[in-house]
Amino acid sequence: MPLPHLPRRTHEELLMETAYIALGSNLENPRHQLALGVAALARLPHTRLTAQSLLYRSAPVGYVSQPDFVNAIAAITTDLAPRALLDELLAIEREHGRVREVPNGPRTLDLDIALYGERVINEPGLTVPHPRMAQRAFVIVPLAEIAPSLRIPGTALTARAALRQLRDPAQVRLLG
Ligand code: AMP
Repeated sequence: MPLPHLPRRTHEELLMETAYIALGSNLENPRHQLALGVAALARLPHTRLTAQSLLYRSAPVGYVSQPDFVNAIAAITTDLAPRALLDELLAIEREHGRVREVPNGPRTLDLDIALYGERVINEPGLTVPHPRMAQRAFVIVPLAEIAPSLRIPGTALTARAALRQLRDPAQVRLLG
């Protein structure tokens, strides 16, 4: 029996990885900042935006006397290598006027590589999966929304299982 004709993936598509980008903002109209951030991701070279979560509100972690954050996760497929992707994210942050004054302090737009395919990366200036993401409700809640079965490399957890293990999932609320 002849095999069904399957659409062929191009060479570029075969080389592309799926990465999950965590977005956060708590200054200068955070919802708008996140919309600009997602639009900037969609314009990255050799990259396609494939999914985005709803927007969530979360209380600040660490440095607490600052406004609540608005957070989301975007999924992209890209053939940018992890370091090139990080450089692009840092450039987008700079374009959006981000100034780093206080560690974990207020920010116009923060873009982190939460996951890059199945890769575990521990290099100076680049740690993937993003440190402690499995315990961070503002990453796990939106990730479990768009990719519940995704396995978090370096752990035995799917996003859904990480959601079940969160100490305080209610600290992250869907933005109305
Ligand atoms: P922050 O402003 O707290 O998000 O920290 C930004 C710095 O964290 C960047 O300059 C990166 O070098 C470093 N970094 C380490 N791992 C990551 C990652 N997975 N995604 C984004 N930034 C990272």
